[in-house]
Amino acid sequence: MLQLDFDYVIIGSGFGGSVSALRLSEKGYKVLVIEKGKWFKSNDFPKTNWNLKKWLWQPNMKLFGFFKMTFLNHVTVLSGVGVGGGSLTYANTLPIPKSNFFNSGSWATLNNWEEELKPHYKTAYKMLGAATNPKLHAADLAIKDLAVSIGKADYFEAAKVGVYFGEAGRTVDDPYFGGKGPDRTGCTHCGACMTGCRYNAKNTLDKNYLYLAQQLGAEILAEKEVKNVTFLGAEDGSDGYKIEFESSIGKKEKASVTAKGIIFSGGVVGTVPLLLKLKKKSLPNLSEMVGCAVRTNNESLILVTSTNKNSKDFSKGLAIGSILHTDENSHLEPVRYGEGSAFFRTLTIPVIFNKYALFRLLGVLFLFVKFPIKLLKTIFTKNYAKRTTVLLFMQTVDSTIRLKLGNITKMRTKSEKGAIPTGIIPEAFDLSKKHGKIVNGIPFGNFVDVLLGTPTTAHILGGAVMGEDSSKGVIDKHNRVFRYQNMFVCDGSMISANPGVNPALSITAITELAMSKIPTKDS
Ligand SMILES: Cc1cc2nc3c(=O)[nH]c(=O)nc-3n(C[C@H](O)[C@H](O)[C@H](O)COP(=O)(O)OP(=O)(O)OC[C@H]3O[C@@H](n4cnc5c(N)ncnc54)[C@H](O)[C@@H]3O)c2cc1C
Ligand code: SF4
Repeated sequence: MLQLDFDYVIIGSGFGGSVSALRLSEKGYKVLVIEKGKWFKSNDFPKTNWNLKKWLWQPNMKLFGFFKMTFLNHVTVLSGVGVGGGSLTYANTLPIPKSNFFNSGSWATLNNWEEELKPHYKTAYKMLGAATNPKLHAADLAIKDLAVSIGKADYFEAAKVGVYFGEAGRTVDDPYFGGKGPDRTGCTHCGACMTGCRYNAKNTLDKNYLYLAQQLGAEILAEKEVKNVTFLGAEDGSDGYKIEFESSIGKKEKASVTAKGIIFSGGVVGTVPLLLKLKKKSLPNLSEMVGCAVRTNNESLILVTSTNKNSKDFSKGLAIGSILHTDENSHLEPVRYGEGSAFFRTLTIPVIFNKYALFRLLGVLFLFVKFPIKLLKTIFTKNYAKRTTVLLFMQTVDSTIRLKLGNITKMRTKSEKGAIPTGIIPEAFDLSKKHGKIVNGIPFGNFVDVLLGTPTTAHILGGAVMGEDSSKGVIDKHNRVFRYQNMFVCDGSMISANPGVNPALSITAITELAMSKIPTKDS
């Protein structure tokens, strides 16, 4: 018998990784979490997203923040990097998807998911400190007005969010875990959740799952990127694995550890390229399905900036404080950045709804000729974040793309099933124009989306989906990787259907279920 360093090594400390770390530690296992990003304390977060050094993760440009943009041929992906993964930059919203999610996709026939996951959604709510946003602000109220104007007033509601709403600015002892957790401070509704909460109010994973896991002995190794995984002895990994990693910041120092089990939790843009690389090299028996069935959540992000002289302050509130269910399959959420965060104005141009790129380009030029003052006011306004709302539109419509290793870039995408994801969704454009009328603004979008017609998504999912066997999926219904022992995928890549809503709660709940199936170490 080989003496192994750990029972489980977890690659990545986002939602899937953090749940795994706590639950495995509770079961008596010796756990190591390896995370390529940095540790962040409240004071480390930037005041605005103009501070690129503290905000963006782009190591080749010496930017070591926590927000990453990955440009692929069919989609631009936004994600989080750091101890706590996407929770550092996410907008705290925790919706439960509608039934369609549980009954479609490659996992549909494997379980009665809606029933099976119910208790785990409840646990996830409790662990993430979910509460209904107690206060609607200007951006939410504008969406409420929009809801009324389209006859959907009853479909508007305050969002359920992972934020501590004690007395604003007042620090109290752990209010969530009977004194075992860290102290928390009441939310000030500053709207800056996506550039990191500087007030200790956002329930990021380092304040719940990871914090509690550490109390039980789990180790967290930050600023290290896993580069390779090989089996020790038996080809199916039953004798354990060697995990090789190197420093992601500073001098490239290499090291390795061994473990009986391994959990891939690097998020889609971390786990899927790693699995694709391993399939080519050291783990050839991984399913051919690695990289398949990737979903963009069919979303579009459109920015509307008010040009009213006395515009309301749309930056106050929570990053996402409310949700409008626009139809059976679609949702709209008003998203905001805190005061001063105006970086995205450098990347946006007016949205034109047309099938052809040339007409979209001509349309943009035409708008500049027709409304020069309004457009220049939008771009150069002093209080951009205060005047701007990002309209996040999501749909459960199903279509998938495939992720592959690139020859020039690290990754590339191929169309796979259904319509190619588009940034130009007619319903989203229509809603943004109606919203524009309410706040007196013109819809803008990421220039890549507008010119190439591709979408930007903060909710990339799939690539290591569940299936009946290895010809239909990478993992089984308990997240076990086919053909390898003690190997799991627990992160957004396991999501096997389109939730059509923000997915972090579902990633948490599904990982809770997977971990509940692993026996305790003693047994
Ligand atoms: C701006 C923004 C706002 C969002 N708002 C919401 C919201 O309101 N509600 C919601 O539900 N979702 C939201 N999301 C999406 C949500 O953050 C993600 O769905 C979620 O974080 C994915 O969880 P995960 O477990 O897949 O991994 P992630 O949270 O993505 O974490 C993966 C971690 O693994 C690390 N990693 C990757 N590869 C390696 C490697 N090889 N070695 C070591 N470490 C590695 C990464 O650095 C990262 O920290 C938002 C996302 C963004 C970008
Ligand atoms: S609104 Fe401000 S204080 Fe509240 S969670 Fe978000 S960043 Fe923190």
